Amino acid sequence: MSDFYENAKCILGEANIRKNVPLSTMTTFRVGGMADYVACPENAGQISALIKLCHDNEIPFFVLGNGSNILASDDGYRGVIIYVLSGMNQITIDGTTVKAQAGAQLIKVAHETAKNGLTGLEFASGIPGTIGGAVYMNAGAYGGEMKDVVRSVTAMDYDGNVYQLSCDEMNFSYRHSAVQDRKLIVLSAEFELQTGQQDEIDLKISELAKARSSKQPLEYPSAGSTFKRPEGYFAGKLISDAGLKGFSIGGAQVSEKHSGFVINKGGATADDIMKLICHVQDEVDRQFGVMLETEVKTLGEF
Ligand SMILES: Cc1cc2nc3c(=O)[nH]c(=O)nc-3n(C[C@H](O)[C@H](O)[C@H](O)COP(=O)(O)OP(=O)(O)OC[C@H]3O[C@@H](n4cnc5c(N)ncnc54)[C@H](O)[C@@H]3O)c2cc1C
Repeated sequence: MSDFYENAKCILGEANIRKNVPLSTMTTFRVGGMADYVACPENAGQISALIKLCHDNEIPFFVLGNGSNILASDDGYRGVIIYVLSGMNQITIDGTTVKAQAGAQLIKVAHETAKNGLTGLEFASGIPGTIGGAVYMNAGAYGGEMKDVVRSVTAMDYDGNVYQLSCDEMNFSYRHSAVQDRKLIVLSAEFELQTGQQDEIDLKISELAKARSSKQPLEYPSAGSTFKRPEGYFAGKLISDAGLKGFSIGGAQVSEKHSGFVINKGGATADDIMKLICHVQDEVDRQFGVMLETEVKTLGEF
């Protein structure tokens, strides 16, 4: 293990590999125990060298973006978090073509492109993920999704091979992409947008921000919608109809403002959140015969 640490320092530079980092500081639920290592790569070469080092030392790794769709275990993570964030966050705009590295914040890309008079990413202006996480999840809101704007994605497999996938090859569907099936690491994405009317773009962004803050419990830590939308239903309505609005276990609560959000009301553990998620799933299944699938991904052992 100490060899691993020394070698990782050589690959990443001393400042970019840390030991024993609380996952609660890296996830928007604000829960989770210690990760053994957190590595912050600055380029694709470092990622491939790091993966090889992990393979050679039989150390597991997990790719993390902004941690805004993650429930991290109270027991933490025995392995390396490859934290694709500020080390890889460049955005370049050339006409209607936008290229963003995986660690760039989607909100920033949406606002930068809007400032440049480009339309297409307004839907994403309130989604607190990175480009990597958004591509992985095919993030979407208010009728738009990544699928509509992504032209291609550059990604690496676990052997260090780099591919450029077209939008078609990304196989995007509801909260799903080929990155999940093929176990890829997103390095960057290229978007094709359109020129639009500045006042219309700005208006749309401010209307969506108002809609979000009036309907969503943004004042509490969460990971957004906890459950996927089941075919023919809305998760929030099912949960509220099941009488679970405001129901809590420990510090975890089904939001009073939006039943589709499990929130950390204060001092929640990952265990509280997981127990609440399971309780909601059981009750909704028992009362309506619908099994809610989680949109939120887990990290570590549960
Ligand atoms: C208040 C709030 C509102 C939200 N609203 C929305 C919404 O409207 N629509 C929506 O779709 N989501 C929403 N979300 C959820 C979340 O923001 C999105 O799923 C986002 O795309 C996750 O990005 P991330 O960088 O935080 O990914 P993370 O949470 O860090 O990771 C999510 C998954 O992506 C993988 N991943 C991350 N980066 C990479 C990479 N570079 N390469 C490969 N895999 C990677 C991780 O391994 C993990 O499996 C919301 C969350 C919050 C907290």
